Amino acid sequence: MLLFMAIPIFHLLKTKWKEAGSAPTIPAGYTNDASLLNLTKVDSVIQVPNNREDIIEQLKEILIYAKTNNLKVAVAGAQHSMGGHSISPNGIIINMLPYKQLQLDTANNILTIGAGTLWEDALKYLDGFNKSIAIMQAFSSFSIGGSLSVNGHGWQKNLPPLSASVMSFTLLTAEGTIRNCSRTENHELFKLVIGGYGLFGIILDLKLKVVNNTALAYKYLKMNTEKYLDNYDQYISDNENVALVFGRLRISNKKFLEKATLSFFEQTILEPPPLSNPNSVELKRIVFRGSVNSEYGKRLRWDLETGANKVSKNMIFSRNELLNDHVDIIENKDAQSTDILHEYFIPKRNFYRFIDDMKSLLIKSTIDLLNITIRRVEADQDAYMNYAKETVYGFVILFNQKKTELQEKAMQQLTNQLVDATIKNEGTFYLPYRLHISKEKLRTVYPQSDSFFALKRKYDPMEIFSNQFYEHYK
Ligand SMILES: Cc1cc2nc3c(=O)[nH]c(=O)nc-3n(C[C@H](O)[C@H](O)[C@H](O)COP(=O)(O)OP(=O)(O)OC[C@H]3O[C@@H](n4cnc5c(N)ncnc54)[C@H](O)[C@@H]3O)c2cc1C
Repeated sequence: MLLFMAIPIFHLLKTKWKEAGSAPTIPAGYTNDASLLNLTKVDSVIQVPNNREDIIEQLKEILIYAKTNNLKVAVAGAQHSMGGHSISPNGIIINMLPYKQLQLDTANNILTIGAGTLWEDALKYLDGFNKSIAIMQAFSSFSIGGSLSVNGHGWQKNLPPLSASVMSFTLLTAEGTIRNCSRTENHELFKLVIGGYGLFGIILDLKLKVVNNTALAYKYLKMNTEKYLDNYDQYISDNENVALVFGRLRISNKKFLEKATLSFFEQTILEPPPLSNPNSVELKRIVFRGSVNSEYGKRLRWDLETGANKVSKNMIFSRNELLNDHVDIIENKDAQSTDILHEYFIPKRNFYRFIDDMKSLLIKSTIDLLNITIRRVEADQDAYMNYAKETVYGFVILFNQKKTELQEKAMQQLTNQLVDATIKNEGTFYLPYRLHISKEKLRTVYPQSDSFFALKRKYDPMEIFSNQFYEHYK
C-alpha cells in the first residue's frame, strides 16, 4: 500500500523539483504572447486609462501620432492568442487591460462592459446580482475585447460562439470616430470586428446579455469513444437541465483516444453558493504538469481525475464558480518548453473519422500531447470569418513543445497534417493560434478571406491597425 502511494507522490514531487527554473521575463521595449515564442521589439506599450472620456481622448491622440510617424498599432488584451495577433513589430501596442468598466441594467439583464475587463472581474461583479455570463471560454483569464475579437466559445451547452450574447459594441475606427455596431447599426462592421483580430478598430464598450447564476450538480460519464455521440445526444442534448458540459479523450498510450469522459452540470432548484476566492490550484497543476513527457504521468492524471470525478459526483457548485477557472491551473513554469493550443471544428457526420485520422498523426509526432477536450458549438450567425458554419464539435488540443528549432519544425508539420485532416473532414481550424498554416490553406477553409482583407483596407486604408496575424495571412 505504502509503495502504491509512494510512487505517484514521488512522481509529483519530482515534477515540482524539476520546475526550478524561473519563468522568462520580458525585457523593456519588447512584448510577447502566451506562446512565449513571439518575443518582439516594439516602439512602445501604452496602458489605457480606466475612464470613458480619458480613454477616447488618449486613443485618438495615439492614432494621430501613429499616422504622422508611420507607425502601426496593435491592440492587446490578456495576450493569450499565440501567433502575434496582439503584436506589431516596431509598432505601438495598446494594452487595454486597465479599461475595466462594469454596469448592469438589472431590468433588462444587459451588462455594459469595458473591453479590457477580464471574465473573472465580470463574474465577481455579476455574482453580487446573482447573475452570470451567458457564453465565455473555458478560462476566465481573458479580456472581453480579446474574446470578441477571436469570437471565443465555451462549454455552455450547445450554444454558438460568444457573439450570440453580444447586443452591440462601440468601436474607435481608424479615422478616429466612434461607431456603435449592432445587428441593425453598422452591421457590416459588427460582423467584421467579431472574430476580426483587432484589424478594424478598437472595441471600447460592449453590451452583453447575461443569465441567472444557478446551483449546478456535477455529473460524469465514462465510455468507449465510439459511444460518445450517442451518449452526448441522450445525456446532454436531450436533457434540458444540463447547463455546462465538456468531453475528454484518454491520451495515454494504453487505449489512446479509445476512452472518453463527459463531465456535465445539471440545474438544481437550490440557491447557488456565493463566489469564493479560488482554492489553491497547485495540486491540480502539478498533476497536470506531471503528465508532460511522461506516459506514467499521463496515466496517473487520467486515473486521479476520473477517480476524483467519481468522488465529486452530485456535488453542488455555483455556475459562477465553475466559470471562474484561471489559466494558472495549467501554468507551465519550465523555461525550456511552452504549451501550445490547437483547435479544430468538425461536423458531426465526420466526428469519428476525424478522431481516427488524428490518432495516427498524433502517435507519429514527436510533440508531446497533453490534453484533448471536446465541446459542441452551434452555428455562428455573426462573424464574417466564422469557424462554426454549422453545428460542429470543437477538438481543443494542448501540446507541450520544447523551445528548439527541431520541435518548432515538428509542430509546423503536425499542425499542417491536422489541418489537412480537418479539410478532409469538412471542418475548420481556429485562428488565434500559431501561424504555421499557409495563406492558401486559410483560403480553402475560409473562402471569405480575400473579401475580409479587402474590407479591412476599405475601413482602414492606411493599414494602421496591424499585427502578425494580418502580416502573415493578408
Ligand atoms: C490556455 C488557453 C485556453 C483557451 N481556451 C479557449 C476556449 O476555451 N475557447 C476559446 O474560444 N478560446 C480559447 N483560447 C483562445 C483565447 O480565447 C483567445 O486567445 C482570446 O483572444 C484570449 O483573449 P485575450 O484577452 O488574451 O486576447 P489577446 O490575445 O490579447 O487578443 C486577441 C486578439 O484580439 C484583439 N483585441 C484585443 N482587445 C481588443 C480590443 N479592445 N479591440 C479590438 N481588438 C482587440 C487583438 O489585437 C488580437 O488580435 C484559449 C487560449 C489559451 C492560451
